[in-house]
Amino acid sequence: MGLAPDWWLSPWVLGVLGLAIGSFLNVVIHRLPQLLEREWLADAAAYLQDGEAIGRVLGSSEPRRAELARQGEALASEVAALPALSLARPRSRCPHCGHQLAWHENLPLLGWLRLGGRCSACQARISVRYPVVEALTGALFAAAAWQAGPSAAAAVYCAALALLVAAAFIDLDTTLLPDDLTLPLIGLGLVAAWLRWTPVSLPDAALGAFFGYFSLWAVAFAYRLVRGVQGMAEGDFKLLAGLGALLGWQALPAIILLSSAVGAVVGIFMIVARGHGRNVPIPFGPYLAGGGVAALFFGTRLGGLWPGF
Ligand SMILES: [Zn+2]
Repeated sequence: MGLAPDWWLSPWVLGVLGLAIGSFLNVVIHRLPQLLEREWLADAAAYLQDGEAIGRVLGSSEPRRAELARQGEALASEVAALPALSLARPRSRCPHCGHQLAWHENLPLLGWLRLGGRCSACQARISVRYPVVEALTGALFAAAAWQAGPSAAAAVYCAALALLVAAAFIDLDTTLLPDDLTLPLIGLGLVAAWLRWTPVSLPDAALGAFFGYFSLWAVAFAYRLVRGVQGMAEGDFKLLAGLGALLGWQALPAIILLSSAVGAVVGIFMIVARGHGRNVPIPFGPYLAGGGVAALFFGTRLGGLWPGF
């Protein structure tokens, strides 16, 4: 049945692939912060045992250094004793009872629907976030295939969307934006432009990465001068650099405008309606990612939001 060679880049196939990738992204969203925090704790334990550095920085006495080194040793062995964890292992389990999910319970979307959102062993609720992330990733992949047609650009956009979904939810949960997600987005954008897989030229992608980083850096710098506190983190700069590399510098004004407008509305709502402290950091990554997705799908039309573009 003569399948066209590009059938695998059709919205249906990429949509189903997106569901499966979304299922993996749930694991990434849940485990990547844990893996990073383990790494940082191990680093901290190693620093505590570095008596020379502690002496140089704090000028601590010899007994004090020995005490810190003992604490570092204890911390290191606690971290080392943790059960092994990676993105691949162990297999998914119910967080309440430890029941290991059978393959059919782990099917994207269908597994959760068939179980009625409850663990088959202990009946504990399984968060609706899991099927939402899967459905969202599937829908974004299908939309990218539909928008870009059967082309290398469709594959590039799907890869970028997967990174954006993971980054947005991790930032929402932990206010971390891991380099492991933002740096590959910058690389993907630049390489795709270099290979002419996306309609963005290499100079536009490079300028996008540059201005994406430094426009937010400048905003954060000014904010720190005025308010004396850090309003944004470096992860946000790198995320916007990635979007600039993927979509070209021309997309940056619309992304910044859209994400700040939505972020400000939600932020004011949180402060007024929910008593969210004004100095409690509100993650900006989800808004940047959302603005980037909007620019990807509605790029030329969004340009009208910004006078002069
Ligand atoms: Zn259970």
